[in-house]
Amino acid sequence: MRRPAAPFHEHAVREEVERLCREHGLAFRRDRFGNVLVRLHTARVRPLVLAAHMDHPGFEIVRRRGAACRVRFQGGVGDSWFRPGLPLRLMPSGARAALGPRVGKDKTFELIPRQPVDSADAFAVWEMEDFSVRNGRIHGRACDDLIGVAAILATLIELKRKRARVNVIGVLSRAEEIGFRGALAVADSGALPRTSLVISLETSRELPGVRMDSGVILRVGDRALVFDPKAGRFLSEVALDLQRRNRSFQFQRALMSGGTCEGTVYQEFGFQTAAVCVALGNYHNCAPRNRIAPEFVSVKDACGMVDLLVHAARCMPKYERMTSALPARLRRLLRNARRRLLTSAT
Ligand SMILES: [Zn+2]
Repeated sequence: MRRPAAPFHEHAVREEVERLCREHGLAFRRDRFGNVLVRLHTARVRPLVLAAHMDHPGFEIVRRRGAACRVRFQGGVGDSWFRPGLPLRLMPSGARAALGPRVGKDKTFELIPRQPVDSADAFAVWEMEDFSVRNGRIHGRACDDLIGVAAILATLIELKRKRARVNVIGVLSRAEEIGFRGALAVADSGALPRTSLVISLETSRELPGVRMDSGVILRVGDRALVFDPKAGRFLSEVALDLQRRNRSFQFQRALMSGGTCEGTVYQEFGFQTAAVCVALGNYHNCAPRNRIAPEFVSVKDACGMVDLLVHAARCMPKYERMTSALPARLRRLLRNARRRLLTSAT
């Protein structure tokens, strides 16, 4: 989270991802679109794909005339949050600047430099705290979706450490905030086996019905669609099984309709897809009263997401058995119901 990114400018985050993979001996590669695929393949099992994105809404430098620059915002933030004078950080130099007046309609603004603009500067982010942990919460510019990225790496590191027999592919994608560009390219590229079970990982605006600190959220759907019911049932069974082993593990189940996630892309491109998320405060840095502020999530929820995914990877060989538990239960109930209904029918 100390490595700022914007759509199409994820290079510093990606460097950190690849450094962590090297440090932990995880096999990874970049596809030709610049997405990172990490693989842990220690058993012949149906592949489990975990997907998260490396970018976050930010400004692209679009015009440069001497010292004068214009920036265009890329990502979902309402008009009322862009107040002139807000502090910005130019990247990669780190030079300070401020948001100038708006020019045109497509969220393009004059940039007011406070320090010399470097010729290598290509994008800008809100100037604020990169990362901190206080009172059980992670605060920072880009919980969305670096918490998802970190959860995938933590899951793979944990599975590797335990020498688990699994088949997991982590997909760390680019440019999600402006229409899932990286995920679309991966889904269409043939890089993922068609038989994969895909799980999209996100942070998601807190909505009524879910609560921060109450556990990872099994995401029934997003703004665009509902995910695969059988895949969702698998995750529910995994979560219930985990809860039987560890009473402190908590989870919630909800339709998180505040935004569309990469799960929609994978499902529409023919992959069986489920999704999980953790509740997010100050979604896209939008705090109450039109303030720009750090996002935040619960450490406990984020760790719960990792526990769930580690267990899901290990349960993949039991996918069919676990997802047929409910129909088997209904069959048994039916036998009983018929007997009782028939004897009391007249
Ligand atoms: Zn987002």
